[in-house]
Amino acid sequence: MLILAFESSCDETAVAVVRDGRTVLSDAILSQADMHAIYGGVVPEIASRKHIEGIAALTDQALKEAGVTREDIDAVAVTCGPGLIGALLVGVNFAKSVAYALGKPLIPVHHLRGHIAANYIAFPELEPPFLALCISGGNSMLVNVQGYTEMNIVGATRDDAAGECFDKVARVLGLPYPGGKPMEELARGGDDCAYVLPRSHVADSDLDMSFSGLKTAVVNLVHNAAQKGEPLDRPGLAASFAAAVSDELVPRAILAAKRYGHHTVVAAGGVAANSRIRSDLERACRENGLRLFLPPLKLCGDNGAMIGCQAYYESRCLHYADMSLNAYANLEI
Ligand code: AMP
Ligand code: MG
Repeated sequence: MLILAFESSCDETAVAVVRDGRTVLSDAILSQADMHAIYGGVVPEIASRKHIEGIAALTDQALKEAGVTREDIDAVAVTCGPGLIGALLVGVNFAKSVAYALGKPLIPVHHLRGHIAANYIAFPELEPPFLALCISGGNSMLVNVQGYTEMNIVGATRDDAAGECFDKVARVLGLPYPGGKPMEELARGGDDCAYVLPRSHVADSDLDMSFSGLKTAVVNLVHNAAQKGEPLDRPGLAASFAAAVSDELVPRAILAAKRYGHHTVVAAGGVAANSRIRSDLERACRENGLRLFLPPLKLCGDNGAMIGCQAYYESRCLHYADMSLNAYANLEI
């Protein structure tokens, strides 16, 4: 089954052609990050406009790179949420018109299900059940994945997402948007004990997380140092911050895997590219006898291939949509 998949939930326009869920024939991505970097974060209106400008040519590129024609396509898939509503609407409407014009079925895909599915592309042997740690710019959650299309959230952030926290802290340190990668580079060689940063405790749930206290602590620390004219150990602060984020995520992922009887842990989302989080996950899984799957860096961020992959499994359960499909800023997994 050949699926043409669209992703436009944030600041990347992506179109991919995927065969039978696991074979990626093309994965074309048009990033707008440079455009948003001028403003220090994603500007929703600009994101929507850039998706409109890019999506048609990117579709031609994806078909060409895959070596197929539109007539070869068996189904059209699209991210329908969660994400920026204007951005999502561009992908949904474009996908609907392509499906209508070609007379092919339309498959709606949940963005985070897509992030999890990125691992199926990288690891042919991976199958549910497993515990997924989904950490991106807009979400941080623990997902109990029982089947390709059966999953539920067992822990989540009560406030900011991990990626959002990386981006805010990077901004206060004068680093460009998106801040995750520059923060990682700054942390290299830094002492992760240079600063004492808070670890959260969510009173009524040991699997829920919180990042706003950590974010505020770092912002206050930087501002206080500036006001007093004190020097800042920037690499030390970046390393201490990455350690604090990792401490928030990794022990909870292990706890959730054990509580729900999983032997496998899977990481997903843009923040899963972080080397501190990856190495902490590797160590913790090894110590606890858990199998770990870490997606390759290029499959951590938003892409169309992951949507085409998940769409295949949705189609096997006949999860199709008609022309009334809408986009949703918030959407249950
Ligand atoms: P996504 O929302 O899945 O597209 O992921 C984007 C988020 O991942 C942004 O908040 C980035 O700052 C963050 N990110 C990307 N690379 C890294 C990294 N190496 N370390 C931490 N965060 C990262
Ligand atoms: Mg994403």
